[in-house]
Amino acid sequence: MGSLKIENVKKAFGPVEVLKGIDLEVTDGEFVVFVGPSGCGKSTLLRVIAGLEDSTSGRVLIDGGDVSVTPPAKRGIAMVFQTYALYPHLTVKKNMGLGLKQANTPAAEIDRRIGVASSMLSLEPYLERRPAELSGGQRQRVAIGRAVVREPKLFLFDEPLSNLDAALRVNTRLEIAQLHRRLKATMIYVTHDQVEAMTLADKIVVLNAGRIEQIGGPMELYNSPANEFVAGFIGSPK
Ligand code: ADP
Ligand code: MG
Repeated sequence: MGSLKIENVKKAFGPVEVLKGIDLEVTDGEFVVFVGPSGCGKSTLLRVIAGLEDSTSGRVLIDGGDVSVTPPAKRGIAMVFQTYALYPHLTVKKNMGLGLKQANTPAAEIDRRIGVASSMLSLEPYLERRPAELSGGQRQRVAIGRAVVREPKLFLFDEPLSNLDAALRVNTRLEIAQLHRRLKATMIYVTHDQVEAMTLADKIVVLNAGRIEQIGGPMELYNSPANEFVAGFIGSPK
């Protein structure tokens, strides 16, 4: 389970309309990438999907349930941010387990899940370290691990590789792809990087100024961009 339906979602901050009517369906297990230039509304859309931000109008349904009326703990969503958002004073293990502890998950179950996630993400050697003792790539793997242990049906990634150098970006991208194959969860991934979009996505959603320009598979967009904007962003060289 992890289907998503976005119905005519609009979002304004004061007089400024940032999302101008977004309609989208994501099926269970799909890897969907939102791509578009800085400021086009990608993060805002992700935050509305997560229920961190109310839409001005329209609805977000996860497995048929309206996110805005579902308590956060019941939404089945985990989000990974560009800046990792780890607690500096806690060890890797405690960072990963904190959310589960707050949800009163039994200690043995927390340990089991941390074991599985840290093995998947090669984090076992670092469990007793603090974030300051890790590289940027390791920190981001911890942030991803913290999402994995919650066993969400929907993962939301907001430019998770943007703070990493080129080599680490490739490695971490491959790890996220592998995670998707293993967990078979639905993943929505925001980036402004065409290579990330082309290599990770089952389906790419091209956003521009708060609207969807085109939705399609990577090769579909590459070979048949709907307009100049999509062509410029993804499309084949002319
Ligand atoms: P992206 O992630 O695609 O770079 P954002 O969703 O972060 O874009 O932002 C889209 C637009 O909405 C930007 O113009 C930004 O300044 C504005 N915006 C985002 N969050 C807020 C907010 N809390 N208050 C006012 N304006 C905001
Ligand atoms: Mg953003």
